[in-house]
Amino acid sequence: MSEKQFRLYDSLSRKVIPLTTSEPVHLRFYTCGPTVYSYAHIGNFRSFVTADLVVRTAKAIGWKVTWVSNITDVGHLTDDDIADATGEDKMEKALRSKEGEQFHNVWELAEYYEDAYRSDWKLLNLTEPDVRPKATQHVREQILATEDLIAKGIAYETPTGVYFSVEKFPEYGKLSGNTQESLRKGVRDVVLDENKNDQSDFAIWKKDDKHLMQWFSPYGWGFPGWHIECSVMARAYLGDTIDLHSGGEDNKFPHHECEIAQSESLTGKPFCNHWTHTAFLQVNGQKMSKSLGNFYYVRGLVEQGADPLAIRFALISGVYRKNLNFTDQGLEDAKTNIDRFRRADSAVAEALVAGTTGPDSIGTELESLYEQALEAMLSDLNTPIAISKALEGAKVITRDALSVESAKSGEAFLTKINDLLGIVRHDEPLTPCEETKVSSVDEAKILERIEARKAAKAAKDWGLADTIRKELATEGILLTDNSDGSVSWSQG
Ligand SMILES: [Zn+2]
Repeated sequence: MSEKQFRLYDSLSRKVIPLTTSEPVHLRFYTCGPTVYSYAHIGNFRSFVTADLVVRTAKAIGWKVTWVSNITDVGHLTDDDIADATGEDKMEKALRSKEGEQFHNVWELAEYYEDAYRSDWKLLNLTEPDVRPKATQHVREQILATEDLIAKGIAYETPTGVYFSVEKFPEYGKLSGNTQESLRKGVRDVVLDENKNDQSDFAIWKKDDKHLMQWFSPYGWGFPGWHIECSVMARAYLGDTIDLHSGGEDNKFPHHECEIAQSESLTGKPFCNHWTHTAFLQVNGQKMSKSLGNFYYVRGLVEQGADPLAIRFALISGVYRKNLNFTDQGLEDAKTNIDRFRRADSAVAEALVAGTTGPDSIGTELESLYEQALEAMLSDLNTPIAISKALEGAKVITRDALSVESAKSGEAFLTKINDLLGIVRHDEPLTPCEETKVSSVDEAKILERIEARKAAKAAKDWGLADTIRKELATEGILLTDNSDGSVSWSQG
């Protein structure tokens, strides 16, 4: 059994406490995934990256992780920051929008944005969850859960749907602080619906025979509420009590508060032992919002030439519990740092093939730097410190010419750092199609440097010629000296 302790802030007890597992060294973890009505923006991805870092850190200390992250493809309404959401289903609204015109129906739209999300996920080098359930695949269980809550006297039917009676769950508000009492006083807006017993009650099933995605239930045609979907999917794959649940700060209320109320009413057991929430992301000092037009998407940034690993680096450069300001300068700095890892990686690769014989002069130093990086991650995911240790290691690797033995230590360090932070290389190589998307090769610049190398060779400056070749190699550009004296290049 691992002796290391993984300390993580728990939003429920509002303290940094050790993350514990009900089964020894096996973390059962649920992450609220995206609603696939549009591309997920980098603010959404910031919280997914936090979840990914939890998984990587847990695995680094030898834990097994069962990670479930859902896809919400129905029932998430537009006004979702109030106790009982109102407005339209986000999916339906998206289909009617300008972008929605290209899809034949809402199912096709969901599929398209799910694919886009998965591909952005891979670009950012996020670990693949064990299960990615879709809400629409679990409607039957959602109806059964609704039936169960009615049978227990906790939910009731009205002409518009089935509602969860908040007063039947006295602990409501324990996560967010929004208790029924405070909701009644109007601390948070609640929907005014005269059919509800109390205005803080929230829908678990909406009756609607005009909805584009509808199912038949004991209450007629309709669709499930967003909160019941996650309660049901978490239980289906991870059991009655899960170890850890994550999401964005905006998920805390009402979504997670309502999940707790439903799940604990259903099972009579604690729903989740540890909650983690990622703070908001700002872009160039402003809140991201559709109206300000400053939504950044992973694919958009990549199309403009951003290195996906640099986007990832920028997203984890600050601690997850504090707001992070994502700036163009930050992204450039991240690229500089990612290139430091790539140079170290190339130096190691070259030395493994052509290094000198000799002792391992860097192994002990690298081992200690890795331990410090791991310690930082185990201390509530302190990414700034972990990253600084990783960069120190890259510096050690590129400090002097490497012996084969030193190169082996360098390789072990970079692999372990990548397993922990995911910023050295993609765990899963990108497909040629993804590579093409990523590569924003400046051909003119490459030709210019090939000319400079030719000139250096002509002047018999072999050192400079070789440096240019190596520099290009670190950028993935490989040169071939042809027999006719010409030089061709390819992207490796
Ligand atoms: Zn959820």
